[in-house]
This record gives sequence, structure tokens and C-alpha cells, in this order.
Amino acid sequence: MLHIQTFTFNPLAENTYVLYDDTLECVIIDPGCYERDEQETLAAFIEEKGLKVMKLLNTHGHFDHVFGNAYVKRTFGVSLFIHPLDEATLRSVITYASIYGFVRYEPAEPDGLLEEGDVVYFGNTQLKVLFLPGHAPGHIGFYAEKEGVLIGGDVLFQHSIGRTDLPGGDHQTLLRSIREKVFPLGDAVKVYPGHGPMTTVGEEKRANPYLQ
Ligand SMILES: [Zn+2]
Ligand SMILES: [Zn+2]
Repeated sequence: MLHIQTFTFNPLAENTYVLYDDTLECVIIDPGCYERDEQETLAAFIEEKGLKVMKLLNTHGHFDHVFGNAYVKRTFGVSLFIHPLDEATLRSVITYASIYGFVRYEPAEPDGLLEEGDVVYFGNTQLKVLFLPGHAPGHIGFYAEKEGVLIGGDVLFQHSIGRTDLPGGDHQTLLRSIREKVFPLGDAVKVYPGHGPMTTVGEEKRANPYLQ
């Protein structure tokens, strides 16, 4: 059984996810933990549950999703994976984080790349990589097909969609990602977004004002 633990970190209220199953292996997706107490909250959960961290995954490279990359890599000795088209997004964080007051941001290099069709394995769980550009050029989602769960990053939110005014963003591309990649997953699929509460594909088809 797949368990999903959500933490909401940093002033941008970013959702950090820990996915684990009954083997107690886990992956950490988009560690937005910036303050020490946020890092400790994440580590305490891992320890309390007795989890073994297998991989660190980024849906995309925006600062609010990657503040904790270096901490997670160092603390758990794991490799960081991102889409090749968002490596530059990740590397640019150091150039602007301090402008927004995040002067203690510590950059971390990716160790591996993930593209559409790749599968991330941990425990008994498989996460299919979906390429979902538009909010960021190399944005990906992690789809647990058997469990009907999408860790969707900043593509589709409850009754909203990701912004497209940042470098590499494109509104039409984002709409295409949602309509052609996310909607076909099926109405029952649960979407865990980068910000805000969990939603479903069916709910967003029905009630998302940006997608009518
Ligand atoms: Zn973003
Ligand atoms: Zn975000």
C-alpha cells in the first residue's frame, strides 16, 4: 500500500511529499524545507516511521520546491533526479533566491535525469514519469498508476493551474499538458499538487475555471 505524507514548507506554502509503502522504502519529492525546523520536521518523520530514503525527486527546479535538496542529499545520502530541461531552472535558483530573502539557500547538483516514460522504483511501488511542461520547461509529474495517484507539482491545482509568467513558462503548453496528459489518466485519479489541497482529475474537469 502506498502512503503519502504531505508537509507544507516555506513562506510559499509549498507541498513536500514523502511516498512510502509497506517495505518502508520511500522517496522524497520537492523538499521545500528551508528553515532548520522544517528540515528537522522532515527528518523526524523519516526516523519515526523507520523509513529508508531511496531517491530525491524534483518535479521542477523552482526555488520553493528545491530549498531542501542539499539537506536531503547530505542527510540521507541519496541521489537527486530532475528532467534535463529543468536543470537550468534548478541551477538558476542561486542567482535569485537571495533577492527574495532566502540568503541561506544551498545549491545541489542533480545526479541523474528523468524523462517521459521512465519509471522510478522503490519498495513495491512504481512511479511513471510524465512530461508536463508549461509552468516550467522541464516539469514532470510522478504517476502511481496502480494506486491512481499523481504527484503533479505546479501543473494543476484545486480549481487553478500553474502560473506561466516565469522563464520558460508557456500558457498554451501548460493547457496541453493538462488536457493531453493529466485528464486522460481518469476522473478518479488523485492529484497531489505543489501548493494547496489534494484534488481529483474529475473535480478539475468539472469545476476548474481555467479548463472550461
Ligand atoms: Zn513552480
Ligand atoms: Zn511552486
